[in-house]
Amino acid sequence: FEGETKTREMSALDRQEQYRKQLTADIAHELRTPLTAIRSHLEAMAEGLWEATPERLNSCVEEVKRLGSLVVDLDRLAKLEQENVRLNLTDVDLMETVRAVCGNFEKEADNKNIGISIEGSVSGIQADKDRVTQVITNLLSNAIKYTPPGGHIRVHVKDEGTNGIVVVEDDGIGISQKDLPYIFERFYRTDQSRNRKTGGAGIGLTIAKSIVDAHNGRITAESAEGTGSRFTVVFPKSE
Ligand code: ADP
Repeated sequence: FEGETKTREMSALDRQEQYRKQLTADIAHELRTPLTAIRSHLEAMAEGLWEATPERLNSCVEEVKRLGSLVVDLDRLAKLEQENVRLNLTDVDLMETVRAVCGNFEKEADNKNIGISIEGSVSGIQADKDRVTQVITNLLSNAIKYTPPGGHIRVHVKDEGTNGIVVVEDDGIGISQKDLPYIFERFYRTDQSRNRKTGGAGIGLTIAKSIVDAHNGRITAESAEGTGSRFTVVFPKSE
């Protein structure tokens, strides 16, 4: 029996090792593009080929900021993906959490003339409140990012049997059927998001999924290009 356990441990370690190699390769790939851009712009200015205008310097600052938030996201992801994520379980009221997160985004949504409505009922679950907040934050942040001005976001909290459910629905740009199966993968971004300045690093949904998985829950996405997206998170009320 000892041997059996050992084999299992080995393969888990192998998987970890494989995962780390892939992660390192992915990070290197993600860092290369912005670093190359910043370097060539700064060099052109240092060599006097380009005048160092505030606009050019600012675009370098923006790139550096993007790198900074990429590192913050990576750090979060690394912490989550360590074996044995320790959840700090307490009673969490999903409706209250949804209201708090929506409150945080009120100004951002207003600035973009996007309406947010909250519906549903109270639903209490056993969960890690900060992490549940992170999941809803990432979904709402995406909904605002990928919904054009004048759009609408609807957040629905449902209490169904042994589950508490949060649905975040927008009438934004949507996700093509080709991209939909991959959006929870690390660094995956659709072309629409890559082409936009506001696009993130493609880690937000990966973080959300890790958190939901750690709670033995489920996160799914439905979408139609040009019509909008709907993300559904199902949390078991208790383990
Ligand atoms: P990012 O930081 O780039 O937003 P995410 O992991 O949060 O990364 O999302 C991955 C990709 O899924 C995004 O780049 C975007 O292409 C797509 N996406 C996520 N949420 C939405 C949404 N509400 N509407 C349209 N596309 C979305």
